[in-house]
Amino acid sequence: MAILKILEFPDPKLRRKALPVEVIDKNLQARIDDMFETMYAAPGIGLAATQVDFHKRLLVTDVSNEKNDPHVLINPEILSREGETTSKEGCLSVPGYLDEVTRAEEISVSYLDRNGANKEQEVSGLLAICIQHEIDHLNGKLFIDYLSEAKRQKIRKIIQKQRQNPSPSSPVY
Ligand code: ZN
Repeated sequence: MAILKILEFPDPKLRRKALPVEVIDKNLQARIDDMFETMYAAPGIGLAATQVDFHKRLLVTDVSNEKNDPHVLINPEILSREGETTSKEGCLSVPGYLDEVTRAEEISVSYLDRNGANKEQEVSGLLAICIQHEIDHLNGKLFIDYLSEAKRQKIRKIIQKQRQNPSPSSPVY
């Protein structure tokens, strides 16, 4: 296993739209293991393939406190959305910055698991927020895109400053 480099805003590679996974083989499973290791080490509660410069529709999450509830979603698709919830989000690709985003409270999502089996699941709470955040990454979208351009400019400056003076960050996706 290996810890992968996480792309950071404003890297243009974060804007690429990921392509569907066509083959689930040992190579892909090794990549999934690396993504989990990278996410746990960061530490984060979710990671999209796009964030580690792998442009396939694949994401990993674990929103449990004990870090014992890993989920892999391959070719995830949101089938329906219900309700609204606003929460503070962070992102491993936008280090040191949190802000409020409104998303669906409950989603129904279809995906393939790590063995290629078809799954369909109703998800709510933090896991639903996290999956929506990660699917946005696969579409080249960041949580800060929901904020104003003025805020994004500010974030760009904060990140530049942090690169000069790194400090520990909060839990992020
Ligand atoms: Zn993120």
